[in-house]
Amino acid sequence: MSTLLVRHADLLVTMDAQRREIPDGGLFIQDGLITQAGPSAELPDQADETLDLRGHILLPGLINTHHHFYQTLTRAVPAAQNANLFNWLKTLYPIWAEMRPADIQVSTQTALAELALSGCTTASDHLYLFPNGSRLDDEILAAREVGLRLHASRGSMSLGESQGGLPPDRVVEDEEAILKDSQRLIETYHDPNPGAMTRIVLAPCSPFSVTGDLMRQSAALARSYGVHLHTHLAETQDEEVFCQQLFGHRPVGYMDSLGWVGADVWFAHSVHVSAAEIGLYRATGCGVAHCPGSNMRLASGIAPILDMLAAGVNVGLGVDGSASNDSSNLLAEARLALLAARVRAGLAGASLSGQAAPPLMSARQALELATLGGASVLGRPDLGSLQPGKCADFFAVRLDHIGYAGALHDPLAALVFCDPQPAAYTVVGGKFIVRGGQLQTLDLPRLAERHNRAAKQLLDRA
Ligand code: ZN
Repeated sequence: MSTLLVRHADLLVTMDAQRREIPDGGLFIQDGLITQAGPSAELPDQADETLDLRGHILLPGLINTHHHFYQTLTRAVPAAQNANLFNWLKTLYPIWAEMRPADIQVSTQTALAELALSGCTTASDHLYLFPNGSRLDDEILAAREVGLRLHASRGSMSLGESQGGLPPDRVVEDEEAILKDSQRLIETYHDPNPGAMTRIVLAPCSPFSVTGDLMRQSAALARSYGVHLHTHLAETQDEEVFCQQLFGHRPVGYMDSLGWVGADVWFAHSVHVSAAEIGLYRATGCGVAHCPGSNMRLASGIAPILDMLAAGVNVGLGVDGSASNDSSNLLAEARLALLAARVRAGLAGASLSGQAAPPLMSARQALELATLGGASVLGRPDLGSLQPGKCADFFAVRLDHIGYAGALHDPLAALVFCDPQPAAYTVVGGKFIVRGGQLQTLDLPRLAERHNRAAKQLLDRA
């Protein structure tokens, strides 16, 4: 048995049922699980290792519910800097088609390193292109070297341009091969148990890049193994027009018609959804990965997150792909969620002082999206809060950054309102991924150098 005592954090944010925030708080951890969370004075005073967090705030590890790690190779590509989703995709598909297995590996590690340094302990990634012999295995094995929990989505595209889809034919796959590989991945890597480090998700890319038949068959396969389903949905008005023209449905109605609703389904974006569609999410248990940075970057719009929360929909936070963010900083994304919700409220009249003014998202709500919200979207009751029985996944941030000066009367609010600061400690299942601000599992300068070389070569090949 190994034990870790974490104590004297200036503030422990538990996110437990009472949402306790405890001054001078800490945790006691045995074999990667929390056995106690509370005031330091009530914790055992001995352990195999003790971490003193005086001058830090301690929080549950953040959970990222939507990403495309490989896109760290194509950040800020000139021709895609000023484009909306469909044009951005059409510009980048030919570049992504040149990726090789080594590119998947290095980009996975870059994205996970950035996430870990922003306090993230669990990430879901959506890989939907497998050019030049690439496989989801390349990502899963590379992620294990970093040490974050991974929900690896076996994405897919099967509806090429010649069939009325958006992607060029050379990046789409045969549907039988997709389903066979999906089954192989589930049987090889999926761990359904509490505390799992790796889970597999089936994730046909979007309504405009796969057939309805692949959606249906993927759902049947996923459900026969008890794995979750994920796709992009209701991201842009272009997609809405596409679905209405091709399928005679709005995006959410289309998914409903395919049996793609339920507590085992979560959708990225859901920017353009009606009150009735939010009601359907609530009634069926569908979750949402809110990606405000990407939605602003691609001028997609702002998702009605406060309406979803008021209706009781499970909402998590996602940084989305690094070609549309162009970052993998989950703490920064929580700040964007708060600010984007306020822009939406402003457009709806919150700047008028009157009783009808809509409510504003709070810092605590934004952090809840990034913790408990993400855990519920991914189906992980073992994650998302710091309380006995849960996985020992947490992060701590120093409070003496100049960017927090003047805000220490409310350290939690400082974390969300002020300029995001890096994690001093990020711990997954009791193991240190970041310690003293340094990534423990990889050599960061070497990784950046390898990544830059791979990115340059990729653009040169395309
Ligand atoms: Zn995405």
